[in-house]
Amino acid sequence: MKNLELWWVTGAQLLYGGDAVVQVDKHSKEMVAGLNAGGVIPIPIVYKGTANSSKEVETVMKEANNNPQCVGIITWMHTFSPAKMWIKGLQALQKPLLHFHTQYNAEIPWATMDMDFMNLNQSAHGDREFGHICAHLRKPRKVVSGYWKDPVAQQHIAVWARVAAAWADAQDMRILRFGDQMNNVAVTDGDKVEAEVRMGYHVDYYPVSNLMEYYKHVTDQEVDELVETYKQLYTIKIDECGETVYWEKVRNAARAEIAIRRVLKDEGAKGFTTNFDDLGQVDVNDPHFLGLDQIPGLASQRLMAEGYGFGAEGDWKSAALYRTVWYMTQGLDGGCSFLEDYTLHFDGARSAILQSHMLEICPLIAANKPRLEVHFLGIGIRKEQTARLVFDSKTGSGVTATVIDLGNRFRLIVGDVECIEPKPLPKLPVANALWIPQPNFEIGTEAWILAGGTHHSCMSYAITPEYWEDYAEIAGIEMLHIDKNTTIESFKKELRFNEVYYLLNRSVQM
Ligand code: MN
Repeated sequence: MKNLELWWVTGAQLLYGGDAVVQVDKHSKEMVAGLNAGGVIPIPIVYKGTANSSKEVETVMKEANNNPQCVGIITWMHTFSPAKMWIKGLQALQKPLLHFHTQYNAEIPWATMDMDFMNLNQSAHGDREFGHICAHLRKPRKVVSGYWKDPVAQQHIAVWARVAAAWADAQDMRILRFGDQMNNVAVTDGDKVEAEVRMGYHVDYYPVSNLMEYYKHVTDQEVDELVETYKQLYTIKIDECGETVYWEKVRNAARAEIAIRRVLKDEGAKGFTTNFDDLGQVDVNDPHFLGLDQIPGLASQRLMAEGYGFGAEGDWKSAALYRTVWYMTQGLDGGCSFLEDYTLHFDGARSAILQSHMLEICPLIAANKPRLEVHFLGIGIRKEQTARLVFDSKTGSGVTATVIDLGNRFRLIVGDVECIEPKPLPKLPVANALWIPQPNFEIGTEAWILAGGTHHSCMSYAITPEYWEDYAEIAGIEMLHIDKNTTIESFKKELRFNEVYYLLNRSVQM
């Protein structure tokens, strides 16, 4: 993110004379330098000067659109910046917008304040004039209020900055599907054309037969080196399959990982999906057999940890969403993973949902060093001994999210979850997490189901719902948030209100 930029534009006018603007310019530079030095906002802010006319505003907005490093614009009105001069520029702007309501001066200097001071510290009404034109234009934006030196205000900007960067990343995101969607599944499918229009990413298929060409050219030495890495990172745990089968399966899993990573690099893809019913050639007894001998679960786990988007069973929306979660939480503690609602645990107020998948959980959420295990997996086209990383996840608060396609629009569903300690699963060797949806199991799951949410979601311990709020604002898609204050009565109303809102407001969604 250090190579990206946020642009800061100060709204001004020449009513108070050139000297005032020179002074505001100085203040703006100091404020931008202060934000950059604060260490809270992960992307450098570049000061682009004061804008004093419609032409100047339009010019800087168009420059922002055309500059690939610029991922968003921050505006601040030091004074009344007559907002008709912002119309053309805001209409042209295609990058995320943050309106920072702040002021150079902190406390009112009661004894010395005069008109000269007033000319330099008029955001109190200037930011309202600017806010009005944004509202009039229905311009999607984030408004942050607070003193510019306050770390809390800076943190709100930091969240938006991370989302804006992830948004830019998604506009140049290609997802490869190895195999199609799992047959007949509705919730993970959707309109790929509209997904590109709304969320920016592009979804393509990639023949498994081409992947197998890569697979067959992976050298034994490359496999040896990767297996050495496994030995350093994970606990080697050999169970019922025995040593020979264990190492054969681990080596083939390594081969698959190298092949998939190579395809993704060569194709310029940031994410992928797999399908357990499509693993290349079907007949394993054919002497020229060229297929994956097992579901590439270990590869999916490790590639997720590297930042590649992943969705199982052809779930390309989850693959794109995971990439976005990973991207915007870079450098933060916590970790994130693709997860699936696996099985329910009824226990009164501690009722919870076990989150897992047949294999593909990201080790970034592991509480301890993962174990590399090989066990029989009797699902899909290949019923085989299969390598995987097994671990329990951290406990604590997390936020999970999914995107669904409702036919006329996309809906982002966000749920707050509390991850609690699971018990050992000696007969189900898969990575997992155990969470209580907020506000409790009953309301959390009822709301999620009423909203039409998937069984797949992307969870992170590192983010707050504010990240998704900013994302939905930038994308112009619906967001529903299930949290400690959710009641079914109000949630149902929100569903009904939104139905009308999105039918009437075509500028927000088709
Ligand atoms: Mn699944």
